[in-house]
Amino acid sequence: MTDKILIIGACGQVGTDLTLELHKTYGDNVVGSDIVQPVAALQGIAYEKVNVMDAHGIAAIIDKHKITQVYHLAAVLSAKGEQNPLWAWRINMEGLINILEIAKEKKLNKVFFPSSIAVFGNDAPKKNTPQNTPLNPSTIYGISKVAGEHWCQYFFDKYQIDVRSLRYPGLISYKAQPGGGTTDYAVEIFYKAKQEGKYTCFLSENTALPMMYIEDAVQATLKLMHADTQNISVRTSYNVNGMTFTPKELAQEITKHIPNFTIDYQPDFRQIIANSWTESLDDATAKNDWGWKPTYNLEKMTAEMLQNIR
Ligand code: NAD
Repeated sequence: MTDKILIIGACGQVGTDLTLELHKTYGDNVVGSDIVQPVAALQGIAYEKVNVMDAHGIAAIIDKHKITQVYHLAAVLSAKGEQNPLWAWRINMEGLINILEIAKEKKLNKVFFPSSIAVFGNDAPKKNTPQNTPLNPSTIYGISKVAGEHWCQYFFDKYQIDVRSLRYPGLISYKAQPGGGTTDYAVEIFYKAKQEGKYTCFLSENTALPMMYIEDAVQATLKLMHADTQNISVRTSYNVNGMTFTPKELAQEITKHIPNFTIDYQPDFRQIIANSWTESLDDATAKNDWGWKPTYNLEKMTAEMLQNIR
């Protein structure tokens, strides 16, 4: 039987690229959904407007399209979540639990749930952060992702729901705008560099964070979702590492293409969030289990971003 795939949060930064890529492989068996009207990039792909908090609405869409797999991307991100913690908790937790319950009831064969580097807190090793390490996050977003990882493990153990998950680093892309995270500077900077030749960064110049180009994030997601079940040894969420750089290093790389580009720094509340996160991740388990391998570094990512941003 051919899989039918529902993406929830399809209009977001990850959703736009992931939905387009899934559509290339699965064609009309892909349905996008989001709380907003469909974005232009998803034109021609089946679409349902729905709130992930509306469990009945989601269940009806799953019946209507005979959905067998769900990619659940809808969430409130780290910086936005700190502005309204209760709202972030409700969307991130109740949304996930709705999907897991529906997966059980409708016997979905796979669910994808993205976690984040926000699960790590000040007590996790900063460099090469292990797969298994203390998870004591300082943001409500991170707390919701740690809890979400455990809900996924619980549904796998108790109900054999095949939920798979990655701890995405900060993601860099050009097809959709970032949605309110602490690493958004690494996308904004490209637009400002091209449009104005200067950028004021909300993180300080030496803030090193784990990052990943969207192409690698999409490939990691598909590789994980296509892996044989017996190769999946982690049912909370896999560390995946891409590249690490600071705002200063990114600005220097952009200057190779736009020599007059200038940057200054005005750290805001997001600096405290960034300081609590790690710099790079040990992703040996993902490499061993299902062959994860990133293909973008700072140079390649920067060139591609500047080429594609108008
Ligand atoms: P985003 O904010 O760009 O997109 C989220 C999408 O979800 C939006 O289109 C939004 O309209 C939709 N949405 C919000 N509330 C909804 C609701 N109640 N019902 C239905 N849809 C709703 O976020 P993103 O960057 O695409 O992130 C996708 C997932 O990846 C999230 O779970 C996020 O935590 C995770 N993640 C992202 C990053 C990153 O750097 N972008 C890093 C780590 C993890």
